[in-house]
Amino acid sequence: MGLMRDTAVYLDHAASAPLRPEAREALLPFLDGHFGNPSSVHRFGRDARAALEDARARLARVIGAAPGEIVFTRAGTEADNLAVLGRARERPGAPVAVSAIEHKAVLASAHAAEEAGSPLVLLPVDGDGVVRLGAVDAALEARPAVVSVMWANNEVGALQPVGEIGARCRAAGVAFHSDAVQALGKVPVRVDQVPVDLLAFSAHKVGGPKGVGALYVRRGTRLHPLLFGGGQERGMRPGTEDVAGAAAFAAAAEGADAERETAMARIGALRDRLEAGLREAVPGVVVNAAGAPRLPTISNLSIPGADPELLLMGLDLEGIAASSGSACQSGAVEPSHVLTAMGIPRELAGPSIRFSLGWTTTEDDVARVLEVFPRVAARVGAAG
Ligand code: PLP
Repeated sequence: MGLMRDTAVYLDHAASAPLRPEAREALLPFLDGHFGNPSSVHRFGRDARAALEDARARLARVIGAAPGEIVFTRAGTEADNLAVLGRARERPGAPVAVSAIEHKAVLASAHAAEEAGSPLVLLPVDGDGVVRLGAVDAALEARPAVVSVMWANNEVGALQPVGEIGARCRAAGVAFHSDAVQALGKVPVRVDQVPVDLLAFSAHKVGGPKGVGALYVRRGTRLHPLLFGGGQERGMRPGTEDVAGAAAFAAAAEGADAERETAMARIGALRDRLEAGLREAVPGVVVNAAGAPRLPTISNLSIPGADPELLLMGLDLEGIAASSGSACQSGAVEPSHVLTAMGIPRELAGPSIRFSLGWTTTEDDVARVLEVFPRVAARVGAAG
């Protein structure tokens, strides 16, 4: 903690956000007592069950769902897998349509479904990373088992037209899944306002602990489970529940959502200042997805001529933590599949860097990046 608070500038919230104080508070009772198994009938079990159901109801309230529509999972990846593969297995042989800019948790699930006999339809995006609605319409003609388009992209922050896509899917009688891992707590994510059937969430992206997630499953949406066991989570996700994680997730989601509007106005202004300052100081810098409605927390920049790995290392030496593309891909030599799908040429897609801001980000953090970045970028080959 001292590392983060005292010396470092942490601008990698989209990889993982620092634990929020509400989430920490919610975890503490489970470290000392409250260890019961929620399936046990005795008082220890009932105590754990009450905490789990409280967490479920609170998370449901944040997104406008009924508590019975929340399935706690082991992280966002598992929620995405359950949505995509769970639907594919409901309708064997039917296509699975996912956007080209999905997180690997969705893309790899769709590829796994393809290997099992579900034709894969990749939905293209425009130059700002927004899914083309015409492609959704075309895909719906083949009545896919599921359409999966994320709410907000994790690399460039582009918000997707989930309302329009959901309406089209509903009219066609096709299940619509959206990976809302990066959207929760940053933009309104309400199932009573957007026609969506499945939504994936991850606690650690909203200031909860790692290894906890949830899948919203609209009542009536049929889903094949991926795991088999004791029947927990209505058979959708068997295995003794992570009660502490669920409680901390609910607390983090509530906290982030309660202050969402003020926090996002503040963070968006910092992000804009960061982008304006870098554009001025490093000629040739391109802000990716700048023309799309975007999360206020993410800035994805192409720095022509720069070596992105050296750039990240140089920034790290100065105490600044950022990421190239998505964290899950760092170390990969190929340019990001998201930037490639947006049609960004290799010489710009390669040297790209993502800053992601969040609840701990300050004006001083941004000032420090503006002070250090031009020097580091020039050292690693930026064309400026
Ligand atoms: N979906 C998106 C959009 C993400 O950004 C991530 C995290 O990188 C995930 C899914 C996976 O979530 P988790 O890390 O909880 O498995």
